Amino acid sequence: MTNNTADVIIIGGGIIGCATGFYLAEKGLKVYLLEKDYLTAGSTGRCIGGIRQQFSTKLSIRVAMESMKKFESMTEVLDQDVEFHRGGYLFLAHSEAKKTTYLELIKLQQSMGLDVDYISRDDIEKIVPGISTDDLLGGAYCPSDAQANPFLCVDGYAKHIRKNGAVIPHKEITSINIKAGKVRSITTNDNETYYAPIIVNAAGPFVKNVAQLVDIDVPIEAERHEALITEPMERFFDMMIVDYRNDGCYFNQKWGKGSIIGCYTPKPNAPGQSLGTSFEFVKEMGRRTGRLIPGLANIKIIRQWSGSYEMTPDGNPILDKTDIQGFYIVGGMCGHGFMLGPEIGSLAADFIAEGKTSYDISTFALKRDYTSKEVMK
Ligand SMILES: Cc1cc2nc3c(=O)[nH]c(=O)nc-3n(C[C@H](O)[C@H](O)[C@H](O)COP(=O)(O)OP(=O)(O)OC[C@H]3O[C@@H](n4cnc5c(N)ncnc54)[C@H](O)[C@@H]3O)c2cc1C
Repeated sequence: MTNNTADVIIIGGGIIGCATGFYLAEKGLKVYLLEKDYLTAGSTGRCIGGIRQQFSTKLSIRVAMESMKKFESMTEVLDQDVEFHRGGYLFLAHSEAKKTTYLELIKLQQSMGLDVDYISRDDIEKIVPGISTDDLLGGAYCPSDAQANPFLCVDGYAKHIRKNGAVIPHKEITSINIKAGKVRSITTNDNETYYAPIIVNAAGPFVKNVAQLVDIDVPIEAERHEALITEPMERFFDMMIVDYRNDGCYFNQKWGKGSIIGCYTPKPNAPGQSLGTSFEFVKEMGRRTGRLIPGLANIKIIRQWSGSYEMTPDGNPILDKTDIQGFYIVGGMCGHGFMLGPEIGSLAADFIAEGKTSYDISTFALKRDYTSKEVMK
């Protein structure tokens, strides 16, 4: 039976809220995680499960590499199969400019111990049979990048939170109650109140809305991204393929079933929290996929959907306290929240419970200069 007082209340049942809750629970804290809908109803259940370490700054590469270690051991740690599979990520270069960018980034990534390399067009043809070589120069390939199942990861974290706390779906936080500059409690849409001295806003694309309940402005804006999945087919490539052309796309083959799952980044971007879908996307994704691997031109699409990226102005997450004592923000994953989630959750738990992290994350501060940019978006 759940009483209404915890050590920490987490708002949001996606990968970020659940990973943060898991690591706080590991520290012995009683965590209540409240979700307005069901676990994974937000971006996490709409993502395509890619996990990569190829980023452009020391901090983002480090966070991604630490997160990868956590994915590797997740099945054992959570005592649940999360369908982790190491198939790599391949960023294609169709221009000299892209090739130069990759070569520069690879130097930094290799200096940090990442097993990434620039590979030739011939090598790409060997690992992606049937790929079109039109304009293809080569690509940045990291074989230790991977994929996993977001639903199983969230479920695994949630099970552990429940051991000493609670995961409560269908509770929308409608007010955050403050006394003498400190958080005290939250109230839900059905007028229940839960008390805790620490409240974590992990509401994904809704972080801004939740922060507005206490008049804090957080520069996280939702952007709609569409995705689709095809009928299963015999496995013939193993990695996430990222076509970085202006009209490119990215997709992989799901571990197990062999369906192709993929997306592209709309240009111009599609701001807002809408979860609508379009025929334009299906048509265009079909064209882009078929151009890259002609053998995929006639494969049947079985489902399409959309979800939100949660964008910050510089492409980096926000993990910080606020001017209200006990109120924390963990969000703004900019479309990388699944892959970064385990390490972000662990860092957030250290920051919240101990006031410090094992390495410097000041780049994730709420009140930072947002002018720098993550290149590998
Ligand atoms: C099409 C697509 C493909 C993607 N592919 C990848 C990928 O391959 N790899 C990768 O790493 N990332 C990918 N992403 C990005 C990734 O899904 C997100 O970055 C990540 O899921 C964010 O997790 P989150 O926990 O912050 O947010 P969410 O999963 O959105 O969780 C936030 C939760 O908060 C809840 N909430 C909101 N307001 C309230 C409230 N007032 N009260 C209670 N609950 C509330 C929401 O219902 C939601 O469930 C993709 C995203 C999309 C849309």
